[in-house]
Amino acid sequence: MSLTLSLPFPNPSLPSLSSHHHHRLLLSKPPKASSTQISIDSPPSNPCPPLPKKTGVIVIGAGLSGLAAATHLTSQNIPFLLLDASDAVGGRVRTDTVQGFLLDRGFQIFITSYPEAQKLLNYQTLDLKKFYSGAKIFYGGRFHTVSDPLRHFFDSLQTLANPIGSVLDKLLIASTRIRVLTKSDEEILSSDEVSTAELLSRIGFSESVVDRFFRPFFGGIFFDARLETTSRLFDFVFKCLALGDNTLPARGISAIPEQLAARLPAESVRLNSRVVSIDVEEGLGSVRLESGERLRSEMGVIVAVEEPEAVKLLAGKLNRDPVRKKTGSEHGLLVFLGG
Ligand SMILES: Cc1cc2nc3c(=O)[nH]c(=O)nc-3n(C[C@H](O)[C@H](O)[C@H](O)COP(=O)(O)OP(=O)(O)OC[C@H]3O[C@@H](n4cnc5c(N)ncnc54)[C@H](O)[C@@H]3O)c2cc1C
Repeated sequence: MSLTLSLPFPNPSLPSLSSHHHHRLLLSKPPKASSTQISIDSPPSNPCPPLPKKTGVIVIGAGLSGLAAATHLTSQNIPFLLLDASDAVGGRVRTDTVQGFLLDRGFQIFITSYPEAQKLLNYQTLDLKKFYSGAKIFYGGRFHTVSDPLRHFFDSLQTLANPIGSVLDKLLIASTRIRVLTKSDEEILSSDEVSTAELLSRIGFSESVVDRFFRPFFGGIFFDARLETTSRLFDFVFKCLALGDNTLPARGISAIPEQLAARLPAESVRLNSRVVSIDVEEGLGSVRLESGERLRSEMGVIVAVEEPEAVKLLAGKLNRDPVRKKTGSEHGLLVFLGG
């Protein structure tokens, strides 16, 4: 069996998804923002070892997490410096132009109902183009359409008869939709959690619909074919899918990070600046760049890089390990080191 699916990924910056995506760890309380100014010292001309340059907050990583953190800092008038190793902002969310074609890196879909995205982005300027609300599933030698009955009613009548699940399974999908839509995000994200596989079994879905639809579809979204991901995330994504449209910006997925970056203060983003180490001394964080330059933070360091890199940068620097549960995928890690 092979599948053609839209794989919408959940917004990584959900604060209460304790076991997935980003883990936030406040090591010590940052001082009051108002007392801090960015000050980039010019290198001293005396023979003493050069003092590291100082800045308010240092944000490492200009992917969506780092850009979102920087956006919040900007809105609070907190000075910061956003550093990224790469030659452009966006992290995993990039678009290349090749012979006039816009090529997103990786298959990207933007679901309009992500709550954090609604707060941070101007959808109108993104000029979002919609995809069909559903999936084409290749099974038994041909494609079968699984569509959203509220948006594609007539297609959904065919969905009822297809072999992707029994009629009962399709009714259970409808009741699951009602269940998640009647809950607030807060209720979903604080509800009792089991694995997604366990939840689907408790609801009463047949093994065939789990294997033919849920596992490839949600397994693709979570990078977790065993569906061990928390039921909270399943409910949250199910709700987002029910409420939002699957879209892409007309200029490619990178229009999203570019929009966030364009609102940040000039000179606050430094590209081609790989951080090779973080030090926490006397409650203050400092970072060393690949170039050898050292930058000291007066307020704290936000680490918003992919998890393996964060683990490397933070090795031995944390009082305790970030909470982590195995989900079968490499997630980002967002850590605040209070200065
Ligand atoms: C193939 C693929 C398809 C996806 N499709 C979707 C989708 O359809 N919808 C969706 O919502 N999500 C999708 N995602 C997930 C989404 O892209 C990520 O969840 C999100 O981009 C993660 O953002 P981030 O800022 O946490 O991390 P990243 O995007 O990884 O950003 C980390 C940044 O840190 C920088 N960095 C790393 N180390 C250092 C260092 N030492 N010093 C300085 N900078 C450093 C990197 O250069 C990078 O810019 C997809 C992911 C992939 C891989």
